[in-house]
Amino acid sequence: MVQSAVLGFPRIGAQRELKKVTEAYWSGKATVEELFKVGKELREKNWKLQKDAGVDIIPSNDFSFYDQVLDHSLIFNVIPERYSKYNLPAIDTLFAMGRGLQRAATETSSAVDVTALEMVKWFDSNYHYVRPTFSKNVEFKLNSTKPVDEFLEAKALGIHTRPVLVGPVSYLYLGKADKDNLELEPITLLEKLLPVYAELLAKLKEAGADTVQIDEPVLVLDLPAEVQSAYKTAYEYLASETAPKLFLTTYFGDVRPNIDSIKGLPVAGVHADFVRVPEQLDDVVAALSPSQILSVGIVNGRNIWKTNFAKAIEFVNSAVAKVGAERVIVATSSSLLHTPVTLASEKKIPAEIKDWFSFATQKLAEVVTIAKAVTDGVESVSEELAANAKSILARETSSITNDAAVRERVGKITEDQARRKSPFAARLAAQKKALGIPLFPTTTIGSFPQTKDIRIFRNKFTKGEITAEEYEKFIEKEIENVVQFQEEVGLDVLVHGEPERNDMVQYFGEKLNGFVFTTNGWVQSYGSRYVRPPIVVGDISRPGPMTVKESKFAQSITKKPMKGMLTGPVTCLRWSFPRDDISSKLQAQQLALALRDEVQDLEAAGVYVIQVDEPAIREGLPLRAGAERDDYVKWAVESFRLATSGVEDSTQIHSHFCYSDLDPNHIKALDADVVSIEFSKKDDPKYIQEFSEYPNHIGLGLFDIHSPRVPAKEEFVSRIADILKVYPQENLWVNPDCGLKTRGWAETRASLQNMVDAAKEFRAKY
Ligand code: GLN
Ligand code: ZN
Repeated sequence: MVQSAVLGFPRIGAQRELKKVTEAYWSGKATVEELFKVGKELREKNWKLQKDAGVDIIPSNDFSFYDQVLDHSLIFNVIPERYSKYNLPAIDTLFAMGRGLQRAATETSSAVDVTALEMVKWFDSNYHYVRPTFSKNVEFKLNSTKPVDEFLEAKALGIHTRPVLVGPVSYLYLGKADKDNLELEPITLLEKLLPVYAELLAKLKEAGADTVQIDEPVLVLDLPAEVQSAYKTAYEYLASETAPKLFLTTYFGDVRPNIDSIKGLPVAGVHADFVRVPEQLDDVVAALSPSQILSVGIVNGRNIWKTNFAKAIEFVNSAVAKVGAERVIVATSSSLLHTPVTLASEKKIPAEIKDWFSFATQKLAEVVTIAKAVTDGVESVSEELAANAKSILARETSSITNDAAVRERVGKITEDQARRKSPFAARLAAQKKALGIPLFPTTTIGSFPQTKDIRIFRNKFTKGEITAEEYEKFIEKEIENVVQFQEEVGLDVLVHGEPERNDMVQYFGEKLNGFVFTTNGWVQSYGSRYVRPPIVVGDISRPGPMTVKESKFAQSITKKPMKGMLTGPVTCLRWSFPRDDISSKLQAQQLALALRDEVQDLEAAGVYVIQVDEPAIREGLPLRAGAERDDYVKWAVESFRLATSGVEDSTQIHSHFCYSDLDPNHIKALDADVVSIEFSKKDDPKYIQEFSEYPNHIGLGLFDIHSPRVPAKEEFVSRIADILKVYPQENLWVNPDCGLKTRGWAETRASLQNMVDAAKEFRAKY
């Protein structure tokens, strides 16, 4: 019999229960008991849901109050002294490490002031994990029995689960050395860590666990030799009489380059992601011994599309043909953490389109159906198969997915369209003449504080409580205020402030053909922050201008240059659920053409500075070096250039990047006239050099927009002076790290005023 397995289920709850209770707990509105109670209820609900759906192998320990990797740091006592010294309850230490903690002293407790650990992207997903941070005096020990407790909790409900652990090699490799210990390579800690894993595994076995899912996702990365060889050390140590069977799981990519690390490991089986890389089947099979089981990840854990049953069953059957049914498991490709909880609460998506979707809850039934089809034959699930085939066909042939005019236009894209008319030097000359921008020009990244008022008005408008006209008037008033504010402060290139935008991707998605939106399709991004990604369902086109009205109005009320503000094609795509039936490249091209029209309309409306934000360009980079990555860089760059190259030399194109370490070569390839880059929090002094070869103009972010702290003028002066040691003065722009949306007005005014005054000081000098 072919079993069905789920690698992990979203823990946030169908109604975002986890967010609500954790945030209430943080603000003192819920007790720790209430917090734990909701956690318990969510786990119970998820287990029962999976059991009722007929899933054979159900995970436990996939629940977390913040992040599953951070949980492991608590379990193994990887807690830097700056947190442990406060002797907080474990749950508060967890939150302090995840998000920092600042608390005044009370009668019973001393003051706490500690920043969060580093948070990084979980592979190429939009989830972020808290980075294990190994300080000098790290002392591994079993500090918590969370995985055992949760196994027993499920057991008490009559549900036998497969606990999930992050494997020791991935746990170490995903971590980093703490500040006090910079020369340390975490992987060298393996031998010290293994006994604690063994202790935990023994406890799991005692509790009744027969198999543990041990996640080793770093196997899909390019690994150094000492990490590749660590697998043998680790798993030969861990596999023992006292441990449950170990099931090694990888996901999000290709394990073939590290296949030798898997071969011969004493594990019960191996899981690989065949949604991402179906081509790896033969090599994974060849790496197994005759007794090892193959878990076929075939239901996509990363998107929202219905699985094509016919294709999936065929694929699993091909695996069965190679190793035999008794050695195959049908599984989700990865944890379902990356998909919304359930389609059931979506009432607004048109029925025709909703029929194409499958969220986490629906995906449970998919693994079960595929496993049954392979075990008992397709007749046993003929109804499900027929309905699925019908949905798949409807989507394939729908006029929503296929827009001939869009396809034709994409087919006619020429290389010329992605090239500006002249090289940068000539453009700069034309822009100098047209725009009259001074030396050390000051600007901001786009958004200004989004006050409660703005959100209230937008909500009223969405609900139909005020008319479009009233809303428009309100937005105009906001723009007027922001423009006036910037003139008072003395900024040089102004922005309209983005008051009309809820979110930098959703706003555009709502104005384009080809997207739909969920009302409750939340996915955890990190901690209690969830996002609701738009879904690309069809060919993308622009029915009309999206931002021209606001930008044109803003330009009309000032003599200073106004900067139009758009989100780039790659970011629009990365922060949505993309289609799985056409390539990302094709979707980016469609977006690029729509944005190109917008850029040209802005120019025609008299907006001669246009910023196209691409903060997500780096995160789309394929996980491994090689052809796929090279190809990505090519099309990502081309789509940006296609969007921005249709303007005159005298129109100035800006772009902006934040969130991740960038490759200066990729940024250079975009050929934007001006780029602004998040910079203020980079503590590595070498970082300043990174963009020194950037040939066009550049602004390194001068203050952290995540913090209310106001840097003094002198601080700006000294930062600019440092930058001037490396960058030519005529190339330099003066700006914050990112948009000011989350800030208050008071600190925004003070910070920008100091920034502008500092720039003026330099201007006077040169
Ligand atoms: N223009 C956007 C803003 O200022 C940019 C946001 C971002 O880069 N994340 O809000
Ligand atoms: Zn930004």
